Amino acid sequence: MPPVYRNPPTDPAKTALRRSSLRMAYDLVLAVALLAVATIPVVVLASWITWIASIFLSLLGIGMLVLAFQFPGVADCPGCRKKMYGLSLGGDNIGHQCEGCGLFVSSDQGQVMPMPEHWSAIIPAFGVVVDATPGDPPEICCVCTAPATRKLPVLKDKKPYLDMPHCADHHDGARVGKYGDQDVVRVRSLAFARAWAATRGHEIVGNNRNADKDRGIPPIPWLHGLVSFGILAFGVSVHALLGWAEASGSPIVGNALMVLLYAIFGKKVLAGIFVCIGTFALHGFVMRFGAVMRVRLGIG
Ligand SMILES: [Zn+2]
Ligand SMILES: [Zn+2]
Repeated sequence: MPPVYRNPPTDPAKTALRRSSLRMAYDLVLAVALLAVATIPVVVLASWITWIASIFLSLLGIGMLVLAFQFPGVADCPGCRKKMYGLSLGGDNIGHQCEGCGLFVSSDQGQVMPMPEHWSAIIPAFGVVVDATPGDPPEICCVCTAPATRKLPVLKDKKPYLDMPHCADHHDGARVGKYGDQDVVRVRSLAFARAWAATRGHEIVGNNRNADKDRGIPPIPWLHGLVSFGILAFGVSVHALLGWAEASGSPIVGNALMVLLYAIFGKKVLAGIFVCIGTFALHGFVMRFGAVMRVRLGIG
């Protein structure tokens, strides 16, 4: 008996989901860089305020580390064959949208396929980008597309934003978020999102989409990085200056708020405030730099 070979699936609507070692390595390096930035406040100037900042920033770095392990997957889009990064290897990836052709996908057992139009996601995953006047959504349930029997308010900043149609069996089918400077209403039903977008000419976006990136590769904010270092250096200088003034017995004068903070908390905490602000800004710069370079390297 000759051995039985089984060919890989040839269904053109399915593509293989695999691990991108390059993407994973990149995200791990970025996480390590963020963890290194997190140590700056305590290394530069140890006090309770810098410890709080360092611990908080470390948690953000650990979050990046977790993301590197959680979303290392890549697959060719079943529609246009553009590479889709940031996929979960074990998850269903519902709500992930191709940045090339706009196709929504889902995955199962190592294969990526177009998301069936009639499916509902467990969480609101299909975004309809709305402007200041969202208009009336279609009169069907935003979870299952059955005829709507009631409207339930969706909140934005804890205030009612929009009444969303639901059937008697479903609730909590929509959520409001941001896509760049526009609002996006995410719903559980892809068919509902399409129907609403079609009547209003709205854009539909997946939960992986980012308005900045969709407008083209954003520039690296070098000025932001420079200002971060400036604030950090200012904090260190304030500490040195106050130390010198204390040692030489010189009077401490200047900005009333700064003098008050110095009188209450002392020089370490006052200078630490600037060190913390500078480090938070630097953290933001590294995040942004990492995201832009990921796109430029073609792995994001
Ligand atoms: Zn595509
Ligand atoms: Zn329903």
